[in-house]
Amino acid sequence: MSAKKIVQLKENPAVTNFREYLKISSVHPDVDYSGCVEFLQRQADSLDLPLAIYHVVPKKPIVVLTWRGTEPSLPSILLNSHMDVVPVFAEKWTRDPFGAEKDENGNIFARGSQDMKCVGIQYLEAVRRLKAAGAKLCRTLHISFVPDEEIGGGDGMKAFVHTSDFKALNIGFALDEGIASPTEEFALFYGERSIWQIHVHCPGTPGHGSLLHPDTAGEKLRVVIDRFMDFRQKEKDKLAANPALTVGDVTTINLTMLKGGVQANVVPPELTAVFDMRLAVTQDHREFEALLQSWCKEAGRDVHYDFELKNKRNAITALDSSNPFWMAFKAECDSLKLKLKPAIFPGGTDSRYVRLVGIPALGFSPMNRTPVLLHDHDEFLNEKVFLHGIDIYERLIPAVANVSV
Ligand code: ZN
Repeated sequence: MSAKKIVQLKENPAVTNFREYLKISSVHPDVDYSGCVEFLQRQADSLDLPLAIYHVVPKKPIVVLTWRGTEPSLPSILLNSHMDVVPVFAEKWTRDPFGAEKDENGNIFARGSQDMKCVGIQYLEAVRRLKAAGAKLCRTLHISFVPDEEIGGGDGMKAFVHTSDFKALNIGFALDEGIASPTEEFALFYGERSIWQIHVHCPGTPGHGSLLHPDTAGEKLRVVIDRFMDFRQKEKDKLAANPALTVGDVTTINLTMLKGGVQANVVPPELTAVFDMRLAVTQDHREFEALLQSWCKEAGRDVHYDFELKNKRNAITALDSSNPFWMAFKAECDSLKLKLKPAIFPGGTDSRYVRLVGIPALGFSPMNRTPVLLHDHDEFLNEKVFLHGIDIYERLIPAVANVSV
């Protein structure tokens, strides 16, 4: 028997299951979710759990496996993951991005290995172990697999949370994705920043490029860029000065587009700058908008803006005794000696929609000592880290599902 064959025979069935899910290429654009649904139906059958499929729009299935609790009238626990993955640049990968190859160190390479097919399978495998051990949970568990998170969740969780189907699940607390951590610590996310994307228009006196007209678009644009970039620098300094802060704790501003002009010797009637901004959860929205207005006024006559995107202030999940699910989660992490690093998520996840309807949600992917490779080439997860994640959920799931108040 070859050495390779022996390795295959020894593989933990949970790892085999994970690799099988990774091989289903649920990749954007135009994801075909049918392979995922078939796979999840087989999982539900093997776990002896009912599976429901909801649709907010056709061809965008929201798959929910349910393990009924002994006290089903109590608000339930949602374990959420998304089925879709971001596109790959196959030529930049050293392996097949949908091959789920495992190297001699146990690293499993595939798109979605970190973001976030790992977590979906870890939930299922933890439940498999709990059921096999005869465990009974007080609260009902809903394990959801949603579409389109990577394109904003518009046809997925964003819409689903407002349906009667979602309300009928009676969810009291949710777990969703986090990010890998290269250190011993585990990242834990309790909130997200608000996204504002703004177009600042600077109209001015047009004319010939050889003259010095007053009130030109370029002079105004300079002031606009200066003010936005000065603010950016202050936030950058704040972040650099305090090692306890992460980028999610500050307001970020980036100049992303510049528009205007027709010809090198013509002073244009308007120049426009586009900025992407992520407002820290501590940022007062009204104050910040007043600041933007003052910058425009300072830049000169008729400088104005419009929003491409303007998120409302996102709800954050309390990490204190007012949140019994957090207390149970934290106590269990402490007894497992897991070091948690609470933070505000730097990007956006489906958690924000869940929090928006008043449900506390934590973003947690149990992957420490792992390089952060979400959306990157050669995304991988080590099988030992993956399996340890199942051990962790095997403890965390009962902890939150048995919260009695
Ligand atoms: Zn994700």
